[in-house]
Amino acid sequence: MNLIRRHLLGFAALLLAAAIPAYLLGGFAAVGGVWSLLLFAYLLLHWFHLVRLIRWLANPKLRLVPRGYGIWDDIFNTLLLQAKSRKKRKQQLGRSLQRFNRVIDAMPDGVIILDQEGRIEWMNRLAAVHLDLDFEKDQNGILKNLIRTPEFHSFLQQPLDDTPPTLKIRLSDGLKPRSVMLTRTTFETRLELLVTQDISAAEQLNETRSAFIANVSHELRTPLTVISGFLETLADLPDLPPGERAEFIGLMQQESNRMLNLITDLLTLARLENSGGGETHKQTFSLSELAEQICAEGRALSDGRHQFQSQIAENILVHGTESELHSALGNLVANAVRYTPEGGSITVSLHDNGSNAEFSVRDTGPGITPEHLPHLTERFYRADAGRNRKNGGTGLGLAIAKHALANHHAVLNISSSVGEGSTFSTKLEKAEAVGEP
Ligand code: ADP
Repeated sequence: MNLIRRHLLGFAALLLAAAIPAYLLGGFAAVGGVWSLLLFAYLLLHWFHLVRLIRWLANPKLRLVPRGYGIWDDIFNTLLLQAKSRKKRKQQLGRSLQRFNRVIDAMPDGVIILDQEGRIEWMNRLAAVHLDLDFEKDQNGILKNLIRTPEFHSFLQQPLDDTPPTLKIRLSDGLKPRSVMLTRTTFETRLELLVTQDISAAEQLNETRSAFIANVSHELRTPLTVISGFLETLADLPDLPPGERAEFIGLMQQESNRMLNLITDLLTLARLENSGGGETHKQTFSLSELAEQICAEGRALSDGRHQFQSQIAENILVHGTESELHSALGNLVANAVRYTPEGGSITVSLHDNGSNAEFSVRDTGPGITPEHLPHLTERFYRADAGRNRKNGGTGLGLAIAKHALANHHAVLNISSSVGEGSTFSTKLEKAEAVGEP
């Protein structure tokens, strides 16, 4: 208001200033002429600035805000300030939006906003991946037309009350098969939110856990059934001849040893998984001495039934957990002894390869058919289930070996040919002797 008053007063002063000399020179008629001229010039000035304003509004570039005269200078300055603050606000909004999009992209869940007609108002990329939608093309699509399964349609129709409806679907189209959990909730008043979660990993973990429990139960139930059968017989037949009684007791002892071995192996496996290769118990020790000790244990287990050879390189040091490597490498030698028929030969070797040392166990046993090789290190996997269980193994030896070696950044290599024998080997990184550079 001040601005307008100032400009009106200025214009009135101009008219007055022009009127005095005009009146002195030509009377009232001259004043009228001068004022008409001034008003006309004033109109022209406004018309000229209006055109500039209209032009600028049609293409409002900040740097092109026109300069003006008189009141127009103030108007253009105000417009420039407004345009500048608008630009700043736009930049801030842009940055916030970018950050929001980055947060949404980093979220582990997919999110879809649906309008009242079930049309996708907005979705993040993960939702498109989870539901196998096209992120670009399917924006604004009607969701129930994009996923055409009856269970999904009835899920979308469920009322949204206190407990949000959920649905677990399995998708096998597009990429790899996966399980997706969907949850619907209200969002603002007229919209709803659909959250998608890929639960495949959790489901896989559950399946593995159930399979593991089933396996352990099965492994424990067999010896327990045998023991309770013999116990019943002993209870029912107190007059059993001493020879038979001793035989039953011996068999029960065998079965309880089997259970003990199984529990020991399970505990070892759990310990290996928990330690995860941490440095806590690691130290530098002689792998050559450990290999000699494992050979001696193998010879004792073989008890002269096999030709036992060893080629152990001396003075090889490694950095790790001795007990873990003892379990891993000891299991390989024990397997060779258990699976190689009497008279076969077993060769244990430790070679110095420069920066690493290669430990291998070669036997002339029955060998393993190729289809079993990739599964041998799975828990409770047996190439010949019936026969190998009788062999006294727990089915955990190679799983333990694999885990223990993984804790030492090493892998277990298996090569085998049926009728000729098998070789189990691994390469371990050598360590410098303490005090050496
Ligand atoms: P197990 O306690 O049954 O020996 P492992 O995990 O040690 O369990 O071995 C898994 C399977 O691998 C065995 O059941 C056996 O079928 C096969 N296997 C392991 N070592 C040998 C070997 N030296 N010769 C032939 N088969 C072997």
